Formats: sequence, structure tokens, C-alpha cells
Amino acid sequence: MSATLIKGKPIAEKIRAEVAEEVAAMGHIGLVTVLVGDDPASEVYIRLKHKAAIEAGIDATDLRLPAEISEAELLAKVAELDNDPGVDAILVQLPLPGHIDEARVIRALEPAKDVDGFHPVNAGQLYLGHPTLVPATPLGVMAMLRAHEVELSGANAVVIGRSSIVGKPMAHLLLQANATVTVCHSRTTDLARRTLEADVLVAAVGVPGIVKPDMVRPGSVVVDVGINRTDDGIVGDVDPAAAEVASHFTPVPGGVGPMTIASLLQNALICARYRRGELAYPA
Ligand code: NAP
Repeated sequence: MSATLIKGKPIAEKIRAEVAEEVAAMGHIGLVTVLVGDDPASEVYIRLKHKAAIEAGIDATDLRLPAEISEAELLAKVAELDNDPGVDAILVQLPLPGHIDEARVIRALEPAKDVDGFHPVNAGQLYLGHPTLVPATPLGVMAMLRAHEVELSGANAVVIGRSSIVGKPMAHLLLQANATVTVCHSRTTDLARRTLEADVLVAAVGVPGIVKPDMVRPGSVVVDVGINRTDDGIVGDVDPAAAEVASHFTPVPGGVGPMTIASLLQNALICARYRRGELAYPA
């Protein structure tokens, strides 16, 4: 039997429409994206984020800085944006050129303007169970699971991947939804033994088709975060044949991908609420 497909586009469109309504009610929301250098993949991501932000009525500024900018100059630019009352949300596109300490730049962001949720204060709030700004991709996955009424309380959730951008925040969100969470990574022995216990399996690895159909528990919910460029086009971390085993399955492309941008726009709205005092950012 084939799984129900959890498509991201319709869920993302609904979220984007809701954000647009709230932006219109609020008036100006200022988002500044910072792209250092001319990495082609980053250019594509920035373009997509801008298009979506502008469609939602957000005043998005596309700040481009040369690859040879010094760390000190970049930090000065970030400080300027932090102090600019017209700027609600700041996004520094990663990766940064090798001579710049990424963690230092992220730490320099005003936490309440950190639309990506990468600042240690925001990461810490999530860890403590009091989420503030949370990375967009795992937030998008949670919205997909909610839209399909996937029961998380008491479920065995297995996350493959422990990056700060996807795996770790994903595990924390699932934990807060009362799932019993296992986090797997490159040193996990016998990955299949873990994945076969999953009622909900989230793959965020970056290895095409690493999750085979015989690693999926029959009737489970499988979320494929992977975006891997191959000669056959974009593929996920899960072999699509696993859809014959799972009860719900996110396709790649068209699954988690569209959710990330929708969640980012929601985060921009949260930043604006923090700045206006409509939401209290933890002091
Ligand atoms: P990452 O920083 O490279 O992290 C990959 C994680 O996978 C690491 O924790 C790594 O373990 C683990 N891993 C690598 N090989 C493994 C193996 N053989 N078995 C088990 N675990 C293994 O990547 P990321 O930024 O989290 O992204 C993961 C994937 O999601 C990529 O395909 C990326 O393109 C995609 N992605 C998609 C979206 C979206 O919008 N859909 C957004 C972000 C990322 P170690 O920690 O031990 O190295």
C-alpha cells in the first residue's frame, strides 16, 4: 500500500497567506538578508527568500557584501543592523567565507532579530523548552506533522542527523511534543535497528537514499529533509520506494523544501512582534 504524501506546498501556501494577512495588519516589517560573496547556491536561496518575503508584504533588503570583506567590517555591519530601528529581522546567509568566524558573526546578532534562530540564546531557549526563534526547517517539519494530525505524544521519533540547523532543533521540538526521541549520526552503529523502532522518522543527513525501504517500520511517518543534487536531479535521503512501507511520506522535491521558507516568514513576524513588545523576548 502506498503512503499518504505529505506535500509541503499547500501547507506552505496557507502559512504564507496567513503571514501576509498579519503583515498587512502590522504595517512595516523590515527584513535584511546579508549575503557575503557570490556562492551560487546561496544566491539561489537568497533569491527565493526575497521573493517569498516580498510576496508576503515584508520590506526585504538584499544586502550584498564582497567575499573579501574582513570579519571586523562584517561585525560592524551586523552591529549597524542590530541598532537600526527600521530592521526587525536579520538573516546572515551561511556559509560565510573561510576567513570569517561564522559563530562569532551569529553571536553578534541581536537575538530578538535572529530570524534563523541560530543565535546561542535562541538555541538555548529551545533546549530549555521555552522556544523563541527556532530554525525554520524543523519548524516547517512540525507544521507538516500537525497538518496531518500525526500523533507525537508517546511516539518513538528517530532523527538522523545532529546539525544545529536541522537535526538538533528537530529533536528538541519532537521532545517538547512528548515524543521519545532518538538522535542518530555518522557514528551510530546499526542505524537500521534504530530506524525500525521509529513511529516517526526524520532523515536530515545529506546522503542520497541512505534510508532504504527495509529500514522503515511499516505504517510509520517518514519525513525526508534531505536535498541532494545528483545526476538524476534533486533527491532526498530516503529511497522513494520506502513510500510503499510508510503510512505518510514527504516527497523530495515538494515536501519539506517549501516549508522552510514559509517558516522563515513566520519567524520574521515573530521578530517584529518582539520588537513592538507584542511578544516578550526573555530578558
Ligand atoms: P549537515 O550539517 O551536513 O549534517 C548532517 C548530519 O548527518 C550530521 O549530524 C552527520 O553526523 C549525519 N550523518 C552523515 N552521514 C551519516 C550516516 N552515514 N549515517 C547517519 N548519520 C549521518 O547537514 P544539514 O545542514 O543538517 O542538512 C541535512 C540535509 O538536509 C542535507 O541534505 C541538506 O541539504 C538538507 N536540508 C534541507 C533543508 C530544506 O529546506 N528541506 C534545509 C536544510 C538542510 P555527524 O554529526 O556525526 O557528522
